[in-house]
Amino acid sequence: MQKQLTLWGSDMVFSCILCGGKESRSKSISDAKTGEALDVAACQSCGLVQLARVPTDEELSAFYSTAYRVEYKNQAQPKPKHIFRAGKSALERLQKMQPFFEAGQRHLDIGAGGGEFTYLASRFGLDAHGIDPNSGYLEFGRTAYEVPLETKEVSELPTEPKFDVITMFHVLEHLAHPLEVIEQIHALLSDDGVFVVEVPNLESKRSSPTNHYFKAHITYFTSLSLEVLLSGRFKIEFLDNSNVLYAVCRKIASSDASAIPEGNQNAVDLANTRLKNKALPEYFLNGGAFSIARKTQQTIEELRGSAGRDPKEILDALVPN
Ligand SMILES: [Zn+2]
Repeated sequence: MQKQLTLWGSDMVFSCILCGGKESRSKSISDAKTGEALDVAACQSCGLVQLARVPTDEELSAFYSTAYRVEYKNQAQPKPKHIFRAGKSALERLQKMQPFFEAGQRHLDIGAGGGEFTYLASRFGLDAHGIDPNSGYLEFGRTAYEVPLETKEVSELPTEPKFDVITMFHVLEHLAHPLEVIEQIHALLSDDGVFVVEVPNLESKRSSPTNHYFKAHITYFTSLSLEVLLSGRFKIEFLDNSNVLYAVCRKIASSDASAIPEGNQNAVDLANTRLKNKALPEYFLNGGAFSIARKTQQTIEELRGSAGRDPKEILDALVPN
């Protein structure tokens, strides 16, 4: 009998993509977009929470080629309200990292999308570049903002000249080989270089549990598992542990990191607790019921901030004088 085709490899046993651990504690959840049943699992050695069955590289590239075909269908450019939203997040991210960079430094944004962050980074004085593996809106961004945006993977970049600042927002959780990419980022950075990373936060009590698990998200970080991932290569100098995890990390120049991060009992305990408690009761106890009001407010603001403006004007209007 022919086996039913499931998207993510179905016969694999658990193996932690960070430390190779084989022991896990799992939880059944459903994909926030499609409702499809999924299992997530916490590694009982290093505390990383990941999909219990991690897709193969072939499955992932098939998934993304389909997903992006749908997303960009008949759209040469993002909608104005989406530019406004992306611009607002970009601005908040730049303001948080501002104490850690100087004008004129060479910067790379990984997962640049429509180029909003790359453009605003250049407005903050950085010599900004952006890459994204999916060409999607890159052509639009190049034309609208006149910043260098390339269709590339991190692994395709030359290691010289180095970058002083690398940013990566909401990309890490999509990666099946996160440690490899962290090593590549380490190699691309100058000594003392700064790596800024943001991921969804499994520790957050105010982000909805029904909007947290996606099959496109392979990993679900806590502050401690993020630290395990970065250990030996980067030192976290600033951490915003709120709705999201936002970390500014300094490169450790002479890296003594081993290929595989060591186990960490605190990270395991935190992962187990969060996997158990991230559910609707906790969300409502922490003000989740107000999220509808917040969303409506946000939509009004997005429409006001984007109406009648071209893409560059939308972003320029956000920059404080
Ligand atoms: Zn592990």
